[in-house]
Amino acid sequence: MTEKLFEVDSYCKKFDAKVLSCVECDGGFYVTLDRTAFFPEGGGQASDRGFLGGAAVSDVQISDGDILHKTDKPLNVGSTVCGEIDWELRFSRMQSHTAEHIVSGIVHREFGYSNVGFHMSERTMTVDFSGKLCDCDIARVERLANEAVYKNAAVNVFFPTKEEASALDYRSKLDIAEGLRIVEIEGIDVCACCAPHLKRSGEAGAIKIIDFCPFKSGTRIEMTAGIFAYEDHALLHSSNKRIMGLLSASREAVDDAVSKLCDTVAALKSENASLSRRLALYELDKTELGGAMIGYAKSASYDDLRYCANSISEGFAAPIILLSECDEGAIYVVACRESGARAISAALNSAFSGKGGGKDNYAQGKISVFNKSDIEALIKGLI
Ligand SMILES: [Zn+2]
Repeated sequence: MTEKLFEVDSYCKKFDAKVLSCVECDGGFYVTLDRTAFFPEGGGQASDRGFLGGAAVSDVQISDGDILHKTDKPLNVGSTVCGEIDWELRFSRMQSHTAEHIVSGIVHREFGYSNVGFHMSERTMTVDFSGKLCDCDIARVERLANEAVYKNAAVNVFFPTKEEASALDYRSKLDIAEGLRIVEIEGIDVCACCAPHLKRSGEAGAIKIIDFCPFKSGTRIEMTAGIFAYEDHALLHSSNKRIMGLLSASREAVDDAVSKLCDTVAALKSENASLSRRLALYELDKTELGGAMIGYAKSASYDDLRYCANSISEGFAAPIILLSECDEGAIYVVACRESGARAISAALNSAFSGKGGGKDNYAQGKISVFNKSDIEALIKGLI
């Protein structure tokens, strides 16, 4: 059985250990040791990474009670090796994980809800609670969590006996029969957990709830803490500063300024569309062709052509075929007061490698070959 140094001292970064076994596996070697500071994945926290006797450790897992260190090189069985964990990575995870205990402890104390799901990603984590939380609940939890950080409460880890455990009020997802490990953040939370945590709550740094949403019958929150909360703040600050500069708005007024800008853009888009339609109609080069009307617009959209067709159709009962040349051929609309639009569209598509369609009184599409005299000859033949 490997001695779990991480269980009693989560700040152990470097250690010496004896290699008990080394077997080749898919993509490397599994090494077991007589003692280790490498935390194997568990309690929602990913495994440590680092180095072991010159070999890189990419993953650590528990399998049938054995802690397997996945290395990129074989190690000599019986030799003593020095292990070193990636401390920056581990510390950031301890910040996140301890912050999660603080938030879960506060939600449990304030609302009586349980943590029913926990997932740590690279920079953020999600925590699922068994009850509904609203905006002001979330704001309150976040404030209390940060106040718990300022209190710099001690984090104690202990292994209670069965009798001690039965007298203890603690949070736990599982009914743990043996080897119960308790992580207590004094005055804030008591929880069963196997992972390494900080020594004091103050080391968790800022705790920020980024988002929350209803999840099953409760609430899922997304949060960040420690170095990741600081980096997130720095990123948002820099982006906000740039937006403030672009809109000449103060920090307090920047959201209103963005909202106003969105309204202005929407109004301009609508005005532009209206002008574009009217310009298309003004510039439309149209001629009567047998019983039909054919017209050519410049850089017009389907909306523009449809507007032109509607305007013309008020005084013209025969089929109207309008086209606008584009990069690869032309777009077209066909409008008929009663029927025939779909048949004209099909003939255009067939003759000029096009696609599109519609209803009997209106069709639209795009042709790949644009040649006015060929198009007019085709239309004449159809009418
Ligand atoms: Zn934990």
